[in-house]
Amino acid sequence: MLGQEGIVFGPMSFTQRVVIAMGAGIVFGVLLNLLGDPDGMVNAFLVDGVFYIVGQIFIAALKMMVVPLVLVSLVCGVTSLGDLRALGRVGGKTLLLYLMTTAIAIMLALGIANLFSPGEGFELSGEVVFEAAEPPSFSEVLIGMVPDNPVAAMADAQMLQIIVFALLLGFSITLAGKRGRHVLNFFNDLNEVIMKMVFLVIRTAPVGVFALISRTFANQGIDILGPLAGYFLAVTAALLLHLALTYTALLKVAGLRPIAFLLKMRAPMSFAFSTSSSSATIPVTLNTLKARLGVDNSVAAFTVPLGATINMDGTAIMQGVATVFVANVYGFDLVFADYLTVILTATLASIGTAAVPSAGLIMLAMVLGQVGLPVEGIALIIGIDRLLDMLRTSVNIAGDGAVTCFVAKTEGALDLEVFNDPSAVLNSPQAESPSEAQR
Ligand code: ASP
Repeated sequence: MLGQEGIVFGPMSFTQRVVIAMGAGIVFGVLLNLLGDPDGMVNAFLVDGVFYIVGQIFIAALKMMVVPLVLVSLVCGVTSLGDLRALGRVGGKTLLLYLMTTAIAIMLALGIANLFSPGEGFELSGEVVFEAAEPPSFSEVLIGMVPDNPVAAMADAQMLQIIVFALLLGFSITLAGKRGRHVLNFFNDLNEVIMKMVFLVIRTAPVGVFALISRTFANQGIDILGPLAGYFLAVTAALLLHLALTYTALLKVAGLRPIAFLLKMRAPMSFAFSTSSSSATIPVTLNTLKARLGVDNSVAAFTVPLGATINMDGTAIMQGVATVFVANVYGFDLVFADYLTVILTATLASIGTAAVPSAGLIMLAMVLGQVGLPVEGIALIIGIDRLLDMLRTSVNIAGDGAVTCFVAKTEGALDLEVFNDPSAVLNSPQAESPSEAQR
């Protein structure tokens, strides 16, 4: 049955199912790791067989919808926004908040890292080798925002390029008057159809999430933490603090209840945790913000894909803590100017970080390079990055959601009743009929 959270199965809501699948996946995966034989049959059949196949299909199905969803919902969003000035205001506010929250995230991370001093006393044994991939330069990122071929942009899922194209298309539709309205009707109908597709795929989430998480934990026991426990804890503490302080403050300033926000964001955060990809999570984030938190499509269709692409507070936090960790391991003293450089570069780096698993590590090379730290240091933390990636991607998503709610509220594009009501349902394509919408 379809309900306001997406789906209602019997007595349990969809979010509850996903969260339970996540917990069960962790427990089952850890058990497999502790009791199982890595070269045994169970591993070959279950972990690298069934879980792998199911997990990959689930991620592919999510990714499959991202490009059409972003294009179509953004075109619809822009046309309903009306004029260029409104878009300029929404765009300006969103960009500013994305940058500000990321800068705060790194400052918090640097503070916590100095408190925990991860990496002090870390034994460097043997030669450390890390091949750093070349991160794109800032000018490349800027130039690369405008697609020279929109079809290629869509084929390669170049999110910023798709956003630019969709914005222009939306405006042109508005400018084209009567003829534009025909096109708009088509896009509006297509939007409904794609939302249905999103909905169908999201239905399978409990299975997909369980498979992905079980496999990760089966392959990666917690013993890997070992000497990196300090680093792991520092990143986790900074992530939690950012979630509890920065986003809470932001929502409170907008007059919104943080607890209502966090409870409803559990679903996209669980998806982000299991897929480690902000981009693959876009359909769920967009769906939750619109249908569960009452954000109008005119804001969410723009802020969500943009946020998934450029707003990565969790990634910036990892980069801040990792910089201090590498400095401690190699015995470098970071001075005030270095910290400023880290704040600036990590903010820019998180903009350029692709919204896919482990992308944050590539950009970390840029941050380390800027303050003269050995890039090989990345090799030391790579082993536990898989786990941290899951956590930081959840925070990346929460950041997109918090800024979206702030912007929507201040733009009069947020339905407060829906936001506050745990069982509220919008007249969204999710609800197939009024009775199904009851929950
Ligand atoms: N996995 C992160 C994301 O998709 C990026 C990263 O930090 O590696 O948001």
